[in-house]
Amino acid sequence: MPETVLVTGGAGFIGSHTCVELLGHGHDVVVVDNHVNSSPEALDRIAKIAGRPLAGAYRADVRDRKALREVFSSHPVDAVIHFAAHKAVGESAARPVEYYDTNVAGTCALLAVMHEQRVHRLVFSSSCSVYGDAGTVPLTERSPVAPTNPYARTKLMCERILEDVCDHLPQLKVLALRYFNPVGAHPSGLLGEDPRGVPGNLMPYVAQVAVGRRAQLSVFGDDYPTPDGTGVRDYIHVMDVAEGHRVAVGHLDDRTGMRVFNLGTGTGTSVLQLVAAFGEVSGRPVPYRVAGRRAGDVAELVADPSAVAAAWDWATTRDLTAMCRDAWRFQELHPDGYSCRPPRAGGPTTGESPCG
Ligand code: UDP
Repeated sequence: MPETVLVTGGAGFIGSHTCVELLGHGHDVVVVDNHVNSSPEALDRIAKIAGRPLAGAYRADVRDRKALREVFSSHPVDAVIHFAAHKAVGESAARPVEYYDTNVAGTCALLAVMHEQRVHRLVFSSSCSVYGDAGTVPLTERSPVAPTNPYARTKLMCERILEDVCDHLPQLKVLALRYFNPVGAHPSGLLGEDPRGVPGNLMPYVAQVAVGRRAQLSVFGDDYPTPDGTGVRDYIHVMDVAEGHRVAVGHLDDRTGMRVFNLGTGTGTSVLQLVAAFGEVSGRPVPYRVAGRRAGDVAELVADPSAVAAAWDWATTRDLTAMCRDAWRFQELHPDGYSCRPPRAGGPTTGESPCG
């Protein structure tokens, strides 16, 4: 089993939870993150939860080959998990060059340096958005791909690049994980999703409305061909996503070449169902208004998670209630994100803002 894992984007939402999971299962973990959309505070929290420190943490951009080389030279890296990327669908249409540069050029730089340094194990953070609206749900890994926005196209391009590189380098082992919609937080409330600016994703937006930081949610379209007309997604608890990565690392050596797996639950939830579940768990009704559809959105994305279950004998275990409960705990403790520290033991409890 690979011992030292380099995690790019390790301070981000999924990266930070994955670091906790890896440390908890005996791996040494090195983080590379440029913190454009993450807080260095998350790194302290990772160590606190895991009860042991990261083997290294570097503020560096994945496109910076020189910086990457220094990291690889300083640690005996056995495998890499590559999260570092821009990830907001809406923003990707407004800033496509930035998205292609960071996501695609960043992956190329990482691959080049991995090869130089003779590291040939990679778990790649892909996305269910590669399916677009071409397939019928539930989506298997063989469903057609037809991305509908630049973000999704960057992920599909990276998958294609990885296939080509695997054809060229027979020793390379790559697992691309197409996540559905990761939400929730670490159950301790110490780690969670802390987007910069206005949240682009549903769950953090809902959580910020519930905590009073935003007035109301805009529901992007209620005229989709779904039971209540709002978009249906397969929300997956971030701790299940983290666990999936840790399990994937243990399966990298199963065979060489490129393999693709969905990470989802197989259950679809509409925007209004999520809003209702969050209101129930938090005790705070979430006001909303119906707005127009968001460009690039599709009606329904739900995984068929059976391939991963068959290959790794692994499945998600956390339900929508746990996702809402844990997201709410993090939000309540950090009304303004990581910039607000959680209370010490004996400090304010539910209903009072630890930020005062
Ligand atoms: N959504 C919404 N209001 C928001 C953000 C998202 O109604 O402020 C909807 C969006 O149209 C989609 C679902 O919530 O149907 C999930 O969107 P999100 O951006 O979280 O994930 P995506 O599936 O687009 O990656």
